Amino acid sequence: MLVTVVTLFPEMFPGPLVYSLLGKKLGTIWDLKTVNIRDFADNIWHKVDDTPYGGGAGMVIKPNIVHDALTYAISMYNDITPTIVYMTPRGKVFNNNVAKGILNNNGLIILCGRYEGIDQRVIDFWKTNHNLIEISIGDYVLFGGEIPAMVLIETCLRFIPGIMHNPESVNDESFSIDLLEYSQYTKPAIWYGNSVPSVLLSGNHLEIAKWRTNQAKQITKEVRPDLWEKYLKNNL
Ligand code: SAM
Repeated sequence: MLVTVVTLFPEMFPGPLVYSLLGKKLGTIWDLKTVNIRDFADNIWHKVDDTPYGGGAGMVIKPNIVHDALTYAISMYNDITPTIVYMTPRGKVFNNNVAKGILNNNGLIILCGRYEGIDQRVIDFWKTNHNLIEISIGDYVLFGGEIPAMVLIETCLRFIPGIMHNPESVNDESFSIDLLEYSQYTKPAIWYGNSVPSVLLSGNHLEIAKWRTNQAKQITKEVRPDLWEKYLKNNL
């Protein structure tokens, strides 16, 4: 799976994505390329932005420059049609299901904005002609789309066969069945006088599974009533 990040800061990549399992599989199961938006600037100063029409603070990235950068990015996919994502606070809020939807394709192009964002006309053009989708990583605003892109890449790749040592792990985690995960414990069995719940030492797998499910339900009810409602709705 080829992931291409279209950004003004290509030097931020691969950054944290080279660590751990993702890093080990980089170059085999997945590959990462960057396209520098500035390389497509239409002036000798390599300026990519201009003031917003209508006034207001900040600068906006010009449509023609982003268009040329995206056109170059898509040309690297030959006969594959990659999913194209623009990271923006105005997008659909990201979660595991959105990640799985993105993975229906073999390739991924991620466009990162900066400043006040990107001229809407180029976003609309790529939505109409290349099914670009807009994704937000949450209800807050960052300086740029690069960290959101990394969040999206890491989340999506965890669902690709061959990335995790144990592929079952992704089905036994928070959100996999609309519940947060149960509490985890490891050795020593007693730490500063605090014991591990005795059921986990019992060797009785049925009881352990029951305890974990109850734990997961309890914590979800307390911390995420919205998720708990969803769980109840889907499991009645
Ligand atoms: N003016 C924009 C707004 O109010 O929606 C925010 C622009 S932000 C400072 C610059 C860039 O950071 C955006 O174009 C986007 O690529 C990225 N960004 C910031 N917050 C984000 C979020 N929550 N999710 C995804 N991308 C985000």
